[in-house]
Amino acid sequence: MERAAISVQRCPTYEPELLRSALAGALAPLGGMPAFVSRGDRVLIKPNLLAARAVDKHVCTHPELVLAVAEAALDAGAARVYVGDSPGFGTSLGVLRKLGLPGQLAERGIEIAAFDDPVEIVRPDSVRFRRFEIERAVLEVDKVVNLVKIKTHAQMFMTMSVKNTFGYIVGTRKAAWHLEAGREVDFFATMLLDLHYLRPPVLHLADGIVMMEGNGPGSGTPRALGLLFAGNEGSALDTAICAVLNVPPHFVPTLRMAGELGLGVTDLGKVSWYGPALEDVAIEGIDHPILSHPGKFLAPRPLQRLTRRLLEVRPLVDPKACVGCRICMEACPAKAITMVQKKDRPAVARIHPPLCIHCYCCQELCPEGAIAPKRGLVRSLLRRPS
Ligand code: SF4
Ligand code: SF4
Repeated sequence: MERAAISVQRCPTYEPELLRSALAGALAPLGGMPAFVSRGDRVLIKPNLLAARAVDKHVCTHPELVLAVAEAALDAGAARVYVGDSPGFGTSLGVLRKLGLPGQLAERGIEIAAFDDPVEIVRPDSVRFRRFEIERAVLEVDKVVNLVKIKTHAQMFMTMSVKNTFGYIVGTRKAAWHLEAGREVDFFATMLLDLHYLRPPVLHLADGIVMMEGNGPGSGTPRALGLLFAGNEGSALDTAICAVLNVPPHFVPTLRMAGELGLGVTDLGKVSWYGPALEDVAIEGIDHPILSHPGKFLAPRPLQRLTRRLLEVRPLVDPKACVGCRICMEACPAKAITMVQKKDRPAVARIHPPLCIHCYCCQELCPEGAIAPKRGLVRSLLRRPS
């Protein structure tokens, strides 16, 4: 492949003019949008549309960035531009409505991809997972543009370029993948890599103007970074983001497995870097997620099963914050959640630990932030100040 290239641009706000200028600035060293989108192309823009939440929660890619990128694709001569994703709950259209986008997209002639039409694809040269059912639009367009929201993630540590293409899989089939591959984090990461490289986006843009830290990807805390990232290779962009956030890349299972399997580019020494120098944009102290599988990072492979048992965290519902919407129950791939009625109170969610596979879909999707990873006894003691 051509050399991986990453471009970083400062952009303090989502003010439309500033954003368009930052986008042009980020793309310029990579050859501008025409280097990725040719005249007459059908282009799919794949933002992170995790769930229908208010824009200022920063759960989804910011709508102004979606508009700016779609316009840039049209300006480059794209014949048709689609925007779509497979949300964790609800529909692509429902999430876009919450972001106030359908009318603005229609005014510009940009179409919405419903992500409700799965087709089978078989790739004999994949590492492990050769058969997927993915959204038809992903396969039928000429180019896919990955439009990432940088967030922490309880299972994958961070959600960035590679994790964002999990949305290629339509609706309820995502839950089936969590059940099939989600019990073991490296196994799941390998599936995400096979899926990503089965149809690699031509261009990756990452919304780090405001990222999410802490209890991500659905209920974390927005944190302003003022950075927009662009790149031509998913793992390379994820490696660059980790460098800026001072997150060791081996903390991120998709990067760890990409390095082991030789997929993509995970060595910053092999990446052309444009924009401000790393030391000028690097930040310290982002609030890490509480991970479902901390043993991965603390112990060598043979001891991981033991450390996992001792240190494992599990999702816990805060009954005071739960409003009984049932979203977690419907989303849980392991059917580990029921609603429990207490006297004089609305029903609240309860997780049954023996059934739970620690996929954290419930924590990801709870609109009230009522589910958080809870540390087990040993891990709590380890954290206790002496
Ligand atoms: S825990 Fe969250 S998602 Fe589940 S029922 Fe309660 S409010 Fe809804
Ligand atoms: S309870 Fe939550 S973490 Fe456990 S399997 Fe269900 S969705 Fe996944």
